[in-house]
Amino acid sequence: MSRTVYVNGHYIPEEKAKISIFDRGFLFADGVYEVTSVLNGKLIDFEGHAKRLERSLNELDMDHPVNTEELLSIHRELVSRNNIEEGLVYLQVTRGVADRDFAYPKSASPTLVMFTQAKPGLSNSPQAQTGIKVISIPDMRWDRRDIKTVQLLYPSMGKMMAKAKGADDAWMIEDGFVTEGTSNNAYIVKNSKIITRQVGHEILNGITRRAVLRFAAEQNIDIEERPFTIEEALEADEAFITSATTFVTPVIEIDGTVIGNGQPGSTATALRSIYLEESLKAAI
Ligand code: PMP
Repeated sequence: MSRTVYVNGHYIPEEKAKISIFDRGFLFADGVYEVTSVLNGKLIDFEGHAKRLERSLNELDMDHPVNTEELLSIHRELVSRNNIEEGLVYLQVTRGVADRDFAYPKSASPTLVMFTQAKPGLSNSPQAQTGIKVISIPDMRWDRRDIKTVQLLYPSMGKMMAKAKGADDAWMIEDGFVTEGTSNNAYIVKNSKIITRQVGHEILNGITRRAVLRFAAEQNIDIEERPFTIEEALEADEAFITSATTFVTPVIEIDGTVIGNGQPGSTATALRSIYLEESLKAAI
């Protein structure tokens, strides 16, 4: 069945949706994106994603295509037209269409594209029960990972490297320390304390990360925001990742070494259920 997607003000069937070959998103990866998950037909932490989008656009001097209110109504319209119960809404803004030139065009208007992906069972994925295996790879991305750009080739390569080794994902290493996962934030737990890298230009400031750390603090779980090494992770009691579409997912193996007892840890499991419960309550 064909989806209804959104392109620059129009709701159209996906097979009719077209973008110019001169779009700077296509030519220069000159674009930013957000992914908001949908549970029970409602948006999880829309406000967080809308704010981060605004920040990404500002950091790149890119025009805002619509205001937050309009953005919300497009999200809701797509969820409703495509009958999404569990899944996600993807949105991408590019600097727009202009003759090819490295310098930003003076008079391009931004392109806004949005579509849904149905993912039945998203909140109850097998990986939440079994945990995932990760490998470590060098972090070869640019230095502004706090901006959520569509330059996703290296994360794609990282996931393929993981797959080739029989793992599910990769954690990236820079100057000896873990930055983050290819599409998620990375955490370890040692002696009941959560350790995760502090935000900065080196990692994406995850919307899920912020919520999960807030819930952890409310549960009086200690949190240390600092870089950690893979060696420290191998000695941890637990490890896990967070992202909008994986929520909290346990990591049970790193570079072939079993973490803890090789089962999803109690902290990750508890945080996942609190995150899902609280996020559903606040969903709009
Ligand atoms: N880091 C990276 C590199 C990511 O791509 C993502 C997900 N887009 C995250 C972290 C997690 O961010 P969020 O919780 O906002 O999905």
